[in-house]
Amino acid sequence: LLEMKNIRKSFGDLEVIKDISLRVDEGEVLSIIGPSGSGKSTMLRCAAMLETIDSGEIWYMGERAAWADGHGGLHYPKKAELKKVRSCFGLVFQNFNLFPHFSVIKNITDAPIHNQKRDRDEVYAEAKELLAKMGLSDKADAYPCQLSGGQCQRVAIARALALNPKILYFDEPTSALDPELTGEVLKVIKSLADLHIAMVIVTHEMNFAREISDHVMFMDKGIVEVEGSAESVFNTDNARMQAFLGKLR
Ligand code: ATP
Ligand code: MG
Repeated sequence: LLEMKNIRKSFGDLEVIKDISLRVDEGEVLSIIGPSGSGKSTMLRCAAMLETIDSGEIWYMGERAAWADGHGGLHYPKKAELKKVRSCFGLVFQNFNLFPHFSVIKNITDAPIHNQKRDRDEVYAEAKELLAKMGLSDKADAYPCQLSGGQCQRVAIARALALNPKILYFDEPTSALDPELTGEVLKVIKSLADLHIAMVIVTHEMNFAREISDHVMFMDKGIVEVEGSAESVFNTDNARMQAFLGKLR
């Protein structure tokens, strides 16, 4: 589904991603963990074409979507092709980014109707199903300001799903939430994993990452220190990973 090969990315003199590769196949969940500033969000933003890479390749669905040769040679998709690439993934950020002046249902249906030009009745019917799945059937006509943070985040997830992406990207989906609201969002994400929706999740919720992931990547200072199955990564004797887990306790 998604493959990133030998990605490098600097901001000025600061090399934030130092030759990282990853791959996510149909139905797989990859979690990216690591200390603040290790480059997790940048990696996700590169995957989502929100940042350009300095070198490496990004592949979607077996096609090379973007690449850079490290000497200034850069290819990024344009218009029609970019639209196709963007339709592969959905994004869920820490701060929800819902449209405040749109009702919940309009937040979910706006892009499928206006960008994807899909049938309005069909989109609304699907959106209502999604809201039911998120436990928000009674909130269709509410506005974001009338919802809790956990409810907002579930709307954001429904909005991403309404575009039928092949893979979902989460960047710390619960870090803006009170602990008691975190659980409901993690439960929803878990239910998506159970439906075999492919995901890349940047998270500080270690128990969650351990439980949900097929593959875990521990990043530190722009490199991958440890990766592998959840069990192997959480049981590693890698000193940096041990120090990281120790700090969280
Ligand atoms: P956190 O856990 O705090 O979210 P992170 O692992 O997601 O951290 P990134 O946001 O990827 O870290 O940032 C990695 C490094 O790149 C940091 O040192 C950050 O300051 C720097 N950085 C990120 N975005 C930019 C930018 N647009 N311009 C300059 N520097 C940036
Ligand atoms: Mg981040």
